[in-house]
Amino acid sequence: MFESLSERLGGVFERLTKQGALTEDDVATALREVRVALLEADVSLPVARDFVKKVQEKATGQGVTKSVTPGQQVVKIVHDELVSVLRGEGEADALKIDNPPATILMVGLQGSGKTTTTAKLAKRLAERQGKRVLMASLDTNRPAAMEQLQILGAQIGVDTLPIVKGESAVQIAKRAKTQGAMGGYDVIMLDTAGRLHIDEVLMDEVQAVRDLAQPRETLLVVDGLTGQDAVNVAAEFDGKVGISGVVLTRMDGDGRGGAALSMRAVTGKPIRFVGLGEKMDALETFEPERIAGRILG
Ligand code: GDP
Repeated sequence: MFESLSERLGGVFERLTKQGALTEDDVATALREVRVALLEADVSLPVARDFVKKVQEKATGQGVTKSVTPGQQVVKIVHDELVSVLRGEGEADALKIDNPPATILMVGLQGSGKTTTTAKLAKRLAERQGKRVLMASLDTNRPAAMEQLQILGAQIGVDTLPIVKGESAVQIAKRAKTQGAMGGYDVIMLDTAGRLHIDEVLMDEVQAVRDLAQPRETLLVVDGLTGQDAVNVAAEFDGKVGISGVVLTRMDGDGRGGAALSMRAVTGKPIRFVGLGEKMDALETFEPERIAGRILG
């Protein structure tokens, strides 16, 4: 998922570590190249700029050029800074599913992978945490989307709320809550409708559902391949409905990965999971250490 960035940074650091002794200028040159590599990976400009500035300050502060292995030290500082930018301020809370039934609201644009991710997450909660999950599709405009969730539910052995024609999204959410409480479910997952673009109608509907459902978590699903757009979509959804975290999908693709690096710094919201394929098991928790390790190869 970070192949080209990883390759670019690998090249910069190989030169740096091979060189032995380093001057302040050598470090500055390498860091300029790091900045370009980040920008080419579609990391937002302020994030890339801030990143390099912090690395530069630490390198100077730690007297890297006077050390025996200056190149390696720079790599270590970059690694730590990557972890820090991915993690943001403080550790992201684990997905908390206590006091059942807890509602998880899934929001996002159409085609982002929302329905697939809803099912992947339901499967994970059922299998790994033994939770009883009820999924409901609120996509009243697209009967096919409702059926898709039912099909996925049957496939993974997770219950879905029966489809009743003619209900509004809020009515479905209400029925899901009642059914969730009566049926002894631990988690109710509401797969809200997506639109191709953010619009007032979409936001109004999500807000109405949110107010009724009082979700424990509101997870935004965004397509990781869309780079900075993914970050903009997240900022906008957060402003309008308030999100608790992000799921970046299609991170198995050849995207440049910038969204992963900018998300926390720009929106302040943690990436909770990454989607790594179409299969129901292709969902990983987002771990900054592991991602940083992947980027630095
Ligand atoms: P929705 O409109 O947001 O509900 O999107 P869907 O869940 O229907 O997903 C749209 C397409 O993206 C489907 O073909 C999914 O299989 C695919 N998809 C979803 N997540 C991922 C992912 O992480 N990686 C890949 N490669 N495909 C994905």
